[in-house]
Amino acid sequence: MNLTIHGAARQVTGSMHLLEVNQYKILIDCGLDYEKDRNVQANEDFPFNPATIDVVILTHAHIDHSGNLPTLIRMGFDGQILCTPPTAELAELLLMDSVSIFLNKQHKSRKHGRGKSHQSRQPLYLQKHVMDTVERMVTIGFNKPFRLNGDIELTFVPVGHLLGAAAAVLKINDNGQEKNIAFTGDIGRKNYPVLNDPQPLPPVDYLVSESTYGGRYHTQGQTIEEVLIETIDKACIKESGRLIIPAFSIGRTQALVYSLNKIFSNGLLPPVKVFVDSPLAAVSTQVFRKHHALLNEEAQEFYRHRGDEFEFDNLTYVENLKDSKQISNYFEPCIIISSAGMLEGGRIQDHLYYNIQNYYCTILFIGYCAKGTLGYRLLRGDPIVHIKDRELAVYATIKKTDLFSAHGDHNDLVNTVKQQTPDKLKQVFLVHGETESMQAMADALTQDDYQVTMPEKGVTYQL
Ligand SMILES: [Zn+2]
Repeated sequence: MNLTIHGAARQVTGSMHLLEVNQYKILIDCGLDYEKDRNVQANEDFPFNPATIDVVILTHAHIDHSGNLPTLIRMGFDGQILCTPPTAELAELLLMDSVSIFLNKQHKSRKHGRGKSHQSRQPLYLQKHVMDTVERMVTIGFNKPFRLNGDIELTFVPVGHLLGAAAAVLKINDNGQEKNIAFTGDIGRKNYPVLNDPQPLPPVDYLVSESTYGGRYHTQGQTIEEVLIETIDKACIKESGRLIIPAFSIGRTQALVYSLNKIFSNGLLPPVKVFVDSPLAAVSTQVFRKHHALLNEEAQEFYRHRGDEFEFDNLTYVENLKDSKQISNYFEPCIIISSAGMLEGGRIQDHLYYNIQNYYCTILFIGYCAKGTLGYRLLRGDPIVHIKDRELAVYATIKKTDLFSAHGDHNDLVNTVKQQTPDKLKQVFLVHGETESMQAMADALTQDDYQVTMPEKGVTYQL
């Protein structure tokens, strides 16, 4: 069989791996490559004919793993997309959100008179392509082996990270020889709010592992609740101000809301008004409620004794834009959770516009901000930033924590590989990481006799 890493090779976005077993072609993930974002249209240049792919396996809903599926279908793929039930539902929401982002960019580009010259701002796909994608999804529960054909069996193993996220483990009969290969997707971390810990993978011959946090370590010594209590106490109780938390609507927001629920229902802080200002957060929280049985034991226990994990007194999900605008007229201390997480677009822009010059405002970053984003500039400490066509001085207090990261760190990643013994595991392929991260992980693994490859994009490996 042959393995080709077509995306997320020495970079973190655009996951797309092709596994060929005799004539059968399996595509594992089909993510949007953000590094092509200057020309989003480049995502339709597949290095293979989409019509020749027999089946797609989707590890989880994040756009860097799912975001190019509608293009694959638009370009001729007509097979099934296999994923877990929550992944199907969350991917639909995220893909629809992608369409809105494309249309928004196109609108802005036209407004600035660049419509004709900027082919890059043409939407990569539309709602109808997302609907075609959703129709092709076939859902499979965790740890339930599923036969792709007479020779190939797939099992989804939970990896934490995001509701529904799975490693794809394949048991293959390759001309009479049994071969096992696992694709980790993204690996979560232990003790993450709401989510189960990653489950160990069965022994395999080949492992295609993510490496995002290779060589990097999460902060130790403080819990999520401790950081939130300290920040809210200062920003909202002592200073009677407001706390703005930019957060991705799916995953990060639910982890945050549940953590706040625990704090307030245990009386660890006096009540503070909380606004979750994101329609996508409101609708995706329903998916978390629906798949309640997949949440971790602590969340289930909370539910049994206290009720809904994502609902508490003083919490309001703000869905329409009019109500969102009203938040700026709310003068009591409050917490505003809004997207987008990196502050590029979304309702968070309005909240920043009205509060960035407020001494009694704190902005708590709980996620990664890519270079070039407003979030990155604020974290860098820029004294003046550009928001909605105005230059504004930054008087708000800027804070950050990495405790909400949904990725395992260096130790988590290395330990996932080390659950396998080097005499059975023939080869580890590192993907979904910058070269330095991969190198740090490769160094740690080769010391213990693992065979590690950092594949170049498009190179085929015979397994
Ligand atoms: Zn992910």
